[in-house]
Amino acid sequence: MNMDNNLVNAINNVKQNIREAALKSGRRPEDILLLGVTKTVDVETMEKAYDLGITHFGENRVQEYLKKTDIIKRECHWHIIGRLQTNKVKYLDQRITLIHSLDRIELAEALQMRGQKINHVFPVLVQVNVSGEDTKAGIDPDDLRSFVLKLSKMDNIKVKGLMTIAPYTEDPEKVRYIFKKIKQLAIDIEREKVENISMTELSMGMSGDYKIAIEEGSTIVRIGSALFGERVY
Ligand SMILES: *Cc1c(COP(=O)(O)O)cnc(C)c1O
Repeated sequence: MNMDNNLVNAINNVKQNIREAALKSGRRPEDILLLGVTKTVDVETMEKAYDLGITHFGENRVQEYLKKTDIIKRECHWHIIGRLQTNKVKYLDQRITLIHSLDRIELAEALQMRGQKINHVFPVLVQVNVSGEDTKAGIDPDDLRSFVLKLSKMDNIKVKGLMTIAPYTEDPEKVRYIFKKIKQLAIDIEREKVENISMTELSMGMSGDYKIAIEEGSTIVRIGSALFGERVY
């Protein structure tokens, strides 16, 4: 079997799983965005994936994103999903569809300044750390409300929802509570009707746990290895 067939099969398989998880929980499959996580994936493979219907790509390094966006021959939608250093914000512009990983006020301030400078409003998600693992970035759920209130005053940032990374586990049922918690936090904030804050997008679920995340309300699943194979660094 050649590489093209592997990619075709992997995409079909993931799409089928998304569909089943959506229907199982009474949701519409088309309400869930399949974001291809392409860190370390080469541009030719990305172009093939694009032609097979994956048009949104997530990168965790600004440098890699800049390099790829220069050479790729497709009109992709780009997402930044990993920890974003404030000194990289100067490279971001209107070509970024969504920043998933707003996890601290310094980063919000840097994005706000950059947005003012280039006259752009950055769509962002607030990353929340539910599990409390120190290795994971993200706002503590108890601090989320006050963080969001600060963001609501920043005109060049538009909060669209929340993002989380669940701890790795062999049994994704063990992290279901994390996705439930994110959904509940979004509902609670939505209820307050804070100006400039919307909670329509929930970026949760990766290769190991996206079916569970969809059952709990995910609207964007970030899938790397299940599409492109294990990463070799
Ligand atoms: C790498 C990465 C993913 C994709 O992980 P897989 O397990 O390969 O699907 C998703 N989200 C973030 C933030 C990542 O860094």
